[in-house]
Amino acid sequence: MKESIIKVKGLVKKYGDFEAVKGISFDVNEGEIFGLLGPNGAGKSTTLEIIETLREKTSGKVWVNGFNLDQKPEEIKKIIGVQLQTSGYYPNLNLVELITLFNGLYNRNVDPMNLLEMVNLKDKAKAKVKELSGGQKQRFSVATTLINDPKIVFLDEPTTGLDPQARRNLWDLVRNIRDKGTTVIITTHYMDEAEVLCDRVAIIDSGNIIALDTPDRLVDNLVSTGFERPREVKKANLEDVFIKLTGHSLREE
Ligand code: ADP
Ligand code: MG
Repeated sequence: MKESIIKVKGLVKKYGDFEAVKGISFDVNEGEIFGLLGPNGAGKSTTLEIIETLREKTSGKVWVNGFNLDQKPEEIKKIIGVQLQTSGYYPNLNLVELITLFNGLYNRNVDPMNLLEMVNLKDKAKAKVKELSGGQKQRFSVATTLINDPKIVFLDEPTTGLDPQARRNLWDLVRNIRDKGTTVIITTHYMDEAEVLCDRVAIIDSGNIIALDTPDRLVDNLVSTGFERPREVKKANLEDVFIKLTGHSLREE
């Protein structure tokens, strides 16, 4: 039996009269990559930010690592890693200086170069965030979530707007984080990303969870209803052609 590290029960969020999250329930298992997959406006960020203690809920219950959100938000904050908007970083500090600053804020002593190596940014140690490519910015932002050695990392659309190589690099990074034992909860509106990256996916639409399972089982269930794709599926697609032609590794640098 897998242990759940996040439990959400009947979560509701209203903005005025508008119900953005309509009583959703789900569990996230320890050590998995859990995806919240849905279109813009589905309620993904709202849900994530409530669990992160950054937004007030209207009703419902949330537990993170056994801590009740209503009673122990400070305990929850200590064990989670949250991505900040890269625009929020101090513009005049380089990557090493920023990590040192975060070390101070979290009362940690992470070696900046080790952390940069993990996210493949060692050669950018002296660069400022504004000098990084989109993919590099996202990898740095993911790195900053790891400084307090969290049990759970929250990533809100970390690959939106990235090119295919940068997306794959970020997927590798997310898998590395999971493989080290950290639970990852990630939002995306990319179906292919959820399919290849997530261990389990909740499909969320207009504030409701309409399906929740492994990507494999979600697809198998659809196939078992007699569904077939309209034309024969080729063994590769245009994105594969693009990656093959342009190369996979760190092309964004
Ligand atoms: P997603 O992250 O899936 O795109 P959000 O959680 O950001 O969705 O938003 C869900 C719905 O709630 C959207 O219709 C959005 O316009 C609305 N919403 C989000 N934040 C606010 C807010 N602060 N005030 C009013 N409405 C909001
Ligand atoms: Mg969002």
